[in-house]
Amino acid sequence: MSAPSKSIAVLGGGISGLTCALRLAQEGHRVTLMEGSEQLGGLGTFFEHDGRTFEKFYHCMLPSDGPLLRVLETLGIRDEVYWKPTTFAYAHEGRFFPLNTAVDLLKFAPLRFIDRIRVGITGLYGRLVSDKGLDQITTVKWLTRLSGDRAFAKFWRPMLEAKFGDRHHDVPALWFWTRFNREKGESKGECKGYIKGGYKHITDTFARVLQALGSEIRLNTTVQSVDLDDDGRTVVTTDAGRESFDQIVITLPTPQVEKIVGPAMRREMPPLDTTTDYQGVINCLLFLKKPLTTHYWLATPGSEHPFDGVVETSTLTDTADRGQRHVVYLTKYLHRDDERFSVGDECIRAYWIPALQELFPQLQDSDIEATHIFRASFVEPIYKLNQMKLRPPEELVTGKVYLANTAQVYPVVTSWNGSVTQAERTLAAMGVGVSAPVTATADTAVGSRTAELKLTKPRASAQPLRPAVAKA
Ligand SMILES: Cc1cc2nc3c(=O)[nH]c(=O)nc-3n(C[C@H](O)[C@H](O)[C@H](O)COP(=O)(O)OP(=O)(O)OC[C@H]3O[C@@H](n4cnc5c(N)ncnc54)[C@H](O)[C@@H]3O)c2cc1C
Repeated sequence: MSAPSKSIAVLGGGISGLTCALRLAQEGHRVTLMEGSEQLGGLGTFFEHDGRTFEKFYHCMLPSDGPLLRVLETLGIRDEVYWKPTTFAYAHEGRFFPLNTAVDLLKFAPLRFIDRIRVGITGLYGRLVSDKGLDQITTVKWLTRLSGDRAFAKFWRPMLEAKFGDRHHDVPALWFWTRFNREKGESKGECKGYIKGGYKHITDTFARVLQALGSEIRLNTTVQSVDLDDDGRTVVTTDAGRESFDQIVITLPTPQVEKIVGPAMRREMPPLDTTTDYQGVINCLLFLKKPLTTHYWLATPGSEHPFDGVVETSTLTDTADRGQRHVVYLTKYLHRDDERFSVGDECIRAYWIPALQELFPQLQDSDIEATHIFRASFVEPIYKLNQMKLRPPEELVTGKVYLANTAQVYPVVTSWNGSVTQAERTLAAMGVGVSAPVTATADTAVGSRTAELKLTKPRASAQPLRPAVAKA
């Protein structure tokens, strides 16, 4: 039997907050979800273009995302996830090298033959070896030892820099090992998933189910502080004033948690690790009339490109979800102090779009339907050696204040699945397990969405634009 119903505030409406709110509401608690922005979804949030919604930052699922898929099952929308084989390629001096099979690696001309073999062995070894001790050794050292200096400098370092910039030196090998095993863990080749109606469909369904379970969702509600009152009750302060709850679950990134913790609460909780900073990201989204490549991901590491990857999500998404347009994200991970974070969108466009046209000379201005720039400051913690010891605890104040955030996801790669997994760890610390599906409510949501989708008839897609030089 569940514990007596409590009033619980969940702070943050990203996937962590939504998962916590859902499971707590299923247990019969009175949940109030507070989200600072005008939308749910956090980093998986969306915007509207020409009657459809698109993610501000590219998002997809992997078949190994079990905990996330279970949440979608609870919401009754798991069957709406569709899967497609996807491919990866590497841009080097104007040529695109597919890198999906052992044969692709053997043909990977940017590396000497011996280095290709060493990179291949690194991959095999990485899959077979245990993760023991990898939190205490840097990725730089681990990969250099396995692949050699040349292959590290030419192949692995640009990939690491693409995520962590000049702060990649201390990232533990454990992070890399986990990432490597997550993305290449499928025996039948790379395959990615997306959901009919996009990620907005997931957050809309969460909202409907939460409301049906009696929860309250407050958007545009920025939490200014969390603290304990004189009676030891938890208090949340927003523009609307102070409010008491039995318990609080915080899902904000740690630097934002630090800003809202009040003095009484700070005295009761263990100090949070403030030495781990976060990496941010800029995405430039292009809606195109023609596809660029057949690859989901084209890595463009190296200083000649202002972005580190060209992510063509329309190689995965159905026309029902994007119309006839093709959707490409140019992505660059950066620290929020970098000046590119504060320059105007026009400056980014003026630099990035000609650089894309250099990679794809056939891409004409007239092929571009629209472009949008999005920035996020707190995406991936910048990990250091012994990061496991720096993970914040799930319980901040005994029995009262709990944490489920991206700083705890390590060593798993930050993702919706990683956040759901962490949310479930935090819920376990609160004594809450994973509950059964709430089928009746979700069926209603599924029905209305299906009707909407039937209005769009897919047409045959246009021919891909050819790269500057024929692909390898
Ligand atoms: C470019 C990019 C690509 C990605 N690709 C993928 C992918 O393909 N697949 C995948 O699974 N994941 C992907 N991710 C990662 C994924 O989006 C995140 O790991 C996940 O969304 C984190 O969820 P969260 O709820 O923990 O945090 P967040 O999404 O950061 O949510 C925190 C929420 O708290 C709110 N908040 C902050 N401060 C306050 C306050 N004071 N008061 C109230 N609310 C507040 C924020 O507005 C936000 O909504 C990607 C992320 C980015 C940026």
